[in-house]
Amino acid sequence: MIIDTHAHLNTDEFKEDLEEVLSRAKAHDVMRVLVIGMDEASNKLAIEQAKTHEMIFATVGVHPGYVDSSTTDHLKELLNDRKVVAIGECGLDLHWRKDNFELQKKVFIEQIELAKLTKLPLVIHTRNSFEEAYQCVLPYKGEVKGVFHCFSSDLKDAKRAIDLGFYIGIDGPITFKNADELVRIVKEIDLKHILVETDSPYLAPMPHRGKRNEPGYVHNVVEKIAEIKGLTIEDVKKQTTQNAFDLFHLGGFEK
Ligand SMILES: [Zn+2]
Repeated sequence: MIIDTHAHLNTDEFKEDLEEVLSRAKAHDVMRVLVIGMDEASNKLAIEQAKTHEMIFATVGVHPGYVDSSTTDHLKELLNDRKVVAIGECGLDLHWRKDNFELQKKVFIEQIELAKLTKLPLVIHTRNSFEEAYQCVLPYKGEVKGVFHCFSSDLKDAKRAIDLGFYIGIDGPITFKNADELVRIVKEIDLKHILVETDSPYLAPMPHRGKRNEPGYVHNVVEKIAEIKGLTIEDVKKQTTQNAFDLFHLGGFEK
């Protein structure tokens, strides 16, 4: 079994064919999908999808790209739902916006506090902002856990994230030609620190690059990790699935 630990199936891109997307995922042995919220509307839709589909679990949060339009006020109530398994996607994005950094930081720290309070893991987004996000989490070391999703920093930072008690999320870019640093990270760090994700509908792995991404394609990420680490695909599936269950508690191994 594979678990896609990061997919935005709660976006317009999947409005027409969610059922087909999920059955293609199952055909690739993807038996659980975490649907990731980014603001109030997408959080509620993620929960709705989790309620109507056994294989879907939800996360709720306020993404740094939505801090102007969404506050964290609605989160507490949603966190009570039994299929909500994490807080996020939250974090910092200094690629798209730098001018509202203080607001991004405030909203991120509110969610770290919530994670501490509820013991739920964090799904953290960083873009050109690993250092800043790391500094926000550091005071909570040992009190919060989670994943640095779609990891895009260097090996040194990957090791710091692991030391903080976090997993490293590996996505489609590991299959791209210019992925030298990511390949080095996957080679160097133990598989027990890695989660596999798609970030659907974005960042489709090779050979689907440029098309809409979907959870079934996470198998391309698994295959690439196996190739890099000289392991069997089964080994990679088994360990990364175990990691996902350990972090997110997805309700047993039954299919
Ligand atoms: Zn995402």
